[in-house]
Amino acid sequence: MTSFSLRQTYGQLPEPFHASVALTPVAAPRLVKLNVPLAQSLGLDAGWLAGPEGVAMLSGSAMPEGVHPLALAYAGHQFGQFVPRLGDGRALLLGDVTDCSGQVREIQLKGSGRTAYSRRGDGRAALGPVLREYVVSEAMAALGVPTTRALAAVITGEQVMRETPLPGAVIARVASSHIRVGTFQFFAARQDRTGLRTLADYAIARHYPDAAHAPAPYLALLERVITAQADLVAQWMLKGFIHGVMNTDNMAVSGETIDYGPCAFMEQYDPITVFSFIDERGRYAYGNQPSMALWNLTRLAEALLPLLAEDEEQAVPVAQQALATFEPRFQATYLAGLRAKLGLKTARPDDMALFRGLLETMQEAQADFTQTFRALSSAGAVSGEGVPEILSAFGPWLARWRQRLAEEEAQPASDRAAAMQCVNPAYIPRNHLVEAMIKAAVEDEDFSRFEALLAVCTRPYDDQPGMEVYARPAQAEERVRYTFCG
Ligand code: AMP
Ligand code: MG
Ligand code: MG
Repeated sequence: MTSFSLRQTYGQLPEPFHASVALTPVAAPRLVKLNVPLAQSLGLDAGWLAGPEGVAMLSGSAMPEGVHPLALAYAGHQFGQFVPRLGDGRALLLGDVTDCSGQVREIQLKGSGRTAYSRRGDGRAALGPVLREYVVSEAMAALGVPTTRALAAVITGEQVMRETPLPGAVIARVASSHIRVGTFQFFAARQDRTGLRTLADYAIARHYPDAAHAPAPYLALLERVITAQADLVAQWMLKGFIHGVMNTDNMAVSGETIDYGPCAFMEQYDPITVFSFIDERGRYAYGNQPSMALWNLTRLAEALLPLLAEDEEQAVPVAQQALATFEPRFQATYLAGLRAKLGLKTARPDDMALFRGLLETMQEAQADFTQTFRALSSAGAVSGEGVPEILSAFGPWLARWRQRLAEEEAQPASDRAAAMQCVNPAYIPRNHLVEAMIKAAVEDEDFSRFEALLAVCTRPYDDQPGMEVYARPAQAEERVRYTFCG
């Protein structure tokens, strides 16, 4: 029998950072999916993980000798309201490994039972959200967006009570760490300066080791997180991704997308698009994501104030200066991404106007965001004739774009099309397909739709003949209005 052990690096930090957990075994754990290539890249034994001891661990039922799980402490602003003590109410950090590229990666279970931070929650997760997180996070990784990865999904053989009883499940996910903006807020709210410094030192060593050599390391940490988040949210905007619950406890300082809940991809372009049922006021709508990221980073800066200067009066302008870098950084990454999406090689001052023209036409025509860019990839090649039907409303804008392309250094149209297809996906996990996948799994234990959707969405940039149904937006009767977490 293979032994299995993990380091518990975060566990070396002192007590207020985490709490040990009493496991709550589940009735009949069964593996739904193991991400074998990911397991291999982490140096984990996939055969062991798929066996009875592995499944016992992945369901949070029993740990092998070398694994000592912990629940992590954090605070957070939830929809603008500060909660000083949240923490992993239904998650367990199993430990960490060094992957094949030398990166430290943590393995966490979600849905594995109650912890010291569960408050009134049951510590459990329903199958639907587990499968949604699995598919969407793996799709995001394949799209090239920084994200946690899905290692495994297990059904528990137990029901969880939501509006109705639902099958329970646990997801195992992998992140470069689980330190959130809310982790810093936890120590700031307790006025625990020592804890705050320990956390900041840990985050620097883990994520931004060069910051340790900067003249002001904690300011450098703040600046690095601001940059990483500006880049991340720009990537979300370029892919049409809506996180859904950008609370400060769901924002990782690593710059990875984390805590997939009622997330979704936008279909018809409209900045006010919201899917999350709990986001009644549209706080986390597609178009609000950059300003909400900055709002969260401002909370991070506030938490870090005691480390930025001797007294607060000196620290505030330092923090403000760092925060002022968010907007230009976001714009630069977003603009560079849009240029790539449109096959432009050079930057020009009027580019933003060109992009705005496209987005306005898309909004008027209620055009599908993903399909429009994908169609433009081939329309760049055909110059003039043979424009895909989906672009029929784009005539005047296409003329502008072609003029702009003509003014660039000549390149074979097929090269441009190929480059554009590498950044404009054909396939995203469309909401109606995700919902149909969940329904089949929940009602009939039919995971074939899950497997099929995962397979298509993890090759998002390849044309996949016969898979057209995955590329098209929902028809009126298929349209999903709301997504739910839990
Ligand atoms: P989320 O909205 O999923 O980011 O969760 C916010 C907070 O609520 C975190 O502290 C979670 O651990 C906690 N939480 C969410 N769902 C549950 C649950 N079913 N049981 C216990 N805690 C939960
Ligand atoms: Mg969360
Ligand atoms: Mg969550």
